[in-house]
Amino acid sequence: MSSDPRRTRGLLMMVVAPSGVGKTSLTRRLVADHPDLHLSISATTRSPRPGEHEARDYHFVDRQRFQSMVADDAFLEWAEVYGNFYGSPAEPILDALDRGESVLFDIDFQGAMAVQKRAPEDSVLVYILPPSLAEMSRRLHARSQDSEAVIVQRIARAKDEVSQWQAFDYVVLNEDFDRAYSDLAHIFHAERMRRSRNLWLGPFVEELIGESLD
Ligand code: 5GP
Repeated sequence: MSSDPRRTRGLLMMVVAPSGVGKTSLTRRLVADHPDLHLSISATTRSPRPGEHEARDYHFVDRQRFQSMVADDAFLEWAEVYGNFYGSPAEPILDALDRGESVLFDIDFQGAMAVQKRAPEDSVLVYILPPSLAEMSRRLHARSQDSEAVIVQRIARAKDEVSQWQAFDYVVLNEDFDRAYSDLAHIFHAERMRRSRNLWLGPFVEELIGESLD
């Protein structure tokens, strides 16, 4: 058979969760385990937190640079979150899809909705639920990154978001990390297998049907 057995279309996987639900650990592991899945590195105007690195966690840019990127239509989507700007640079995302590779977005609810609107066929939306708001609050306090006011804000926002759970294709409960990771990996594997993403199937099946047995 001469058809290219590998021609596939990647997917855009959006994983959304309130802060303190373990999203970052889940998504980083998913990317580490799958060479054909790349994390979209957002640009942001917020300052780096201790331990964060340029180009690994975010592209840290000033407001002026962010605004010129908006003017150049360089983002697939962008938004203001807690007084800072965040955006997903379009070029590396579109390049990955062209190569048949997938992109994972660690973005907020409104960002995921914006990407889905722009690329509905390519988008897969996953929401990660905390086992309880009390546990979420405990984790936020334990990591000591946010002021009390920000924690209260994050929990109020989580309540708003969770009530929109039906906008997502999949909802994963992160009660046990390994179980939640396994659920997330299965979602990715199944979505990668979708007929519509395996562009090689059409020509392959045509050849199969036309195959001569003598
Ligand atoms: P943090 O400052 O805690 O890293 O992120 C704050 C929020 O901004 C999180 O909900 C995060 O998912 C979201 N975020 C990060 N990058 C992007 C992006 O490129 N676009 C949008 N819309 N949200 C983002």
